[in-house]
Amino acid sequence: MNLKNNPVDLLHFCPKCGSANFATTGPRSKHCGNCSFNYFFNTSAAASALVFDEKGRLMLTRRAINPHKGKLDLPGGFVEYYETAEEAITRELHEELGAEVAEINYFGTFPNQYEFSGMIVHTLDSTFVIKLKTFDNLIPQDDISAIEFHDPATIELDEIPFNSIRNTITLLQKTKK
Ligand SMILES: [Zn+2]
Repeated sequence: MNLKNNPVDLLHFCPKCGSANFATTGPRSKHCGNCSFNYFFNTSAAASALVFDEKGRLMLTRRAINPHKGKLDLPGGFVEYYETAEEAITRELHEELGAEVAEINYFGTFPNQYEFSGMIVHTLDSTFVIKLKTFDNLIPQDDISAIEFHDPATIELDEIPFNSIRNTITLLQKTKK
């Protein structure tokens, strides 16, 4: 990941008036000297799920899309406009797995950075421990290719591309000891 590819370093023209007089004014802010437009590249909200089966194994998904196609991930995705993080994770579990949520409990928040379209995307994952109504008829769909259950203690962190998910699982491994 090229950390120089932050949005403030890549976007050179005002998105409102097109002026090149578009100065960086902070780590995530730009100001247009022509039309006075101020733009902030705010961290995007995302949500992820910790789902355990009856044996205490953690549900992981295989990514069907880039970035990091074929690698392991937690179920989840971006929070849409007007959604709560709880609504987002409920929707994502339904879209990705066909799953119905029975119970949601807060676990923590984890910042993430990844490169998409040649630009660093900054997100904050809100992570929840989720109980599903049933494990029957879960079908990987949308942006995942498979559902797997792993003993949290033996999950290979090298198989997990995202900082936030690695940090989530590392914390889980510490708290489960
Ligand atoms: Zn402008």
